[in-house]
Amino acid sequence: MQVEFSSKELFILKKIANAADELQLSCYLIGGFVRDKILSRPTKDADIMCIGDAIQLAHEVAENFNPKPSVSFFKTFGTAQVKLPDLELEFVGARKESYVQESRKPTIEPGTLEDDLNRRDFTINTITIDLSKNNFGNLIDRFNGLKDLSEKIIKTPSQPAQTFNDDPLRMMRAIRFATQLNFTIEAKTFNSICENAERIKIISQERITDELNKIMLASKPSAGWFLLQKTGLLKIVFPQLLALQGAEYIDGIGHKDNFTHTLQVLDNIAAHTNDLWLRWAALLHDIAKPATKRFETEHGWTFHGHEALGAKWVTKIFAKFKLPMNEKMRLVQKLVALHLRPISLTKENITDSAIRRLLFEAGEDVDALMMLCEADITTKNKYKAKRYLQNFELVRERMNAVEEKDKMRNWQPPITGDVIMETFGLTPGKNVGIIKDAIREAILDGDITNDYNVAYSLMLQKAAALNILPVKLKQTQ
Ligand code: ATP
Ligand code: MG
Repeated sequence: MQVEFSSKELFILKKIANAADELQLSCYLIGGFVRDKILSRPTKDADIMCIGDAIQLAHEVAENFNPKPSVSFFKTFGTAQVKLPDLELEFVGARKESYVQESRKPTIEPGTLEDDLNRRDFTINTITIDLSKNNFGNLIDRFNGLKDLSEKIIKTPSQPAQTFNDDPLRMMRAIRFATQLNFTIEAKTFNSICENAERIKIISQERITDELNKIMLASKPSAGWFLLQKTGLLKIVFPQLLALQGAEYIDGIGHKDNFTHTLQVLDNIAAHTNDLWLRWAALLHDIAKPATKRFETEHGWTFHGHEALGAKWVTKIFAKFKLPMNEKMRLVQKLVALHLRPISLTKENITDSAIRRLLFEAGEDVDALMMLCEADITTKNKYKAKRYLQNFELVRERMNAVEEKDKMRNWQPPITGDVIMETFGLTPGKNVGIIKDAIREAILDGDITNDYNVAYSLMLQKAAALNILPVKLKQTQ
């Protein structure tokens, strides 16, 4: 098989070959770049392995470009990176790794091509293209990686038990590649993940989360979560998600399996957006269902308050996963908290104020919220699904009409905390909040119009009820 490179890529690869020749080193293209080229997937970085000093090679390569790109390197690992405008080159020296059971860190020594191929994770990542001047472009495939690529198989080059025991992160990587590429994990490799699942505990959360995020960004992320569940990894990396599994029955009445439902919602939203955070919101929208589950004789199974409790849990989950605790987390929180609200707006006789209130609370994320709600429809009954979608369409129309009229999306109440403090000579505190909330609520409920003077009067009334007088009045008394 011939791997197809663009003329730009060939230009770069020839320069690497020349540099390696200058230094009299053997040098190879390997890993994700080769794999993804063969699969015609987009690539952004290329792994170059050389028999010798990778840092020296990286510097030599950089010399050959004009303008000269910067080289960053890690002396302890013997790796270097050259950032070209269209491609990032990752240089690594061929290495031999030996692991001892007690230690997580392998002893690393310079190795041969064979040594280096042996320590790689999967056969599909061991396909190598020779960049040495004399053998330029020759494909080396010691572990039948090409066959596994065409048969869509994830398989370790050495004994899987050894591979996973040496570096348990590879178990997550197996599942991540299977999900990203829509491949199957070969039986022996799969069984070995099941047997070694516990070993994942020695891997740092950051590295696990990197793999989870890559699973989340795949076109069908549910595949990865199901594999995590089947291998026993899910129990260790995200037990709360596993707790959604199963349906309980009382008096012959069951509820849906919230694990499969959640994963269906995740796939549904993934079909509409590549936004990682909307996908996390889908995964977490029902996370507190097990904790709020009740069986009520008149109503059957209920999950009252799961949206509010779930939103609260988002903080803990993000902290545990070392996901960013910033506005992205707050977006996920908001979507989880509000995910039932548009459903309540599909009922009859909904007032403008209910619509206004949701527009205000969702703010600029209202479209994301509606996307989550539509993804949340997982009924197998086609007619029901169609009806629910139509109902949401009506909610959207109502929202558009109210937004047109009241401009609630980016609305702020006409009286700010500053105005309240200035008028009454108050410092920030409880009373300012009470007055501010009363004005906001009155406008959202439609009790007063969204007008400065009307709101100002209400402010005076509310303050008077709290025995608070305006500064001017106080002075004249
Ligand atoms: P992607 O860039 O899409 O994540 P990749 O295959 O390029 O995929 P990298 O993490 O960039 O993955 O690693 C480059 C190569 O290094 C891999 O293809 C694999 O051969 C090897 N490799 C990376 N991590 C490991 C690991 N934990 N164990 C063994 N080999 C690994
Ligand atoms: Mg890579």
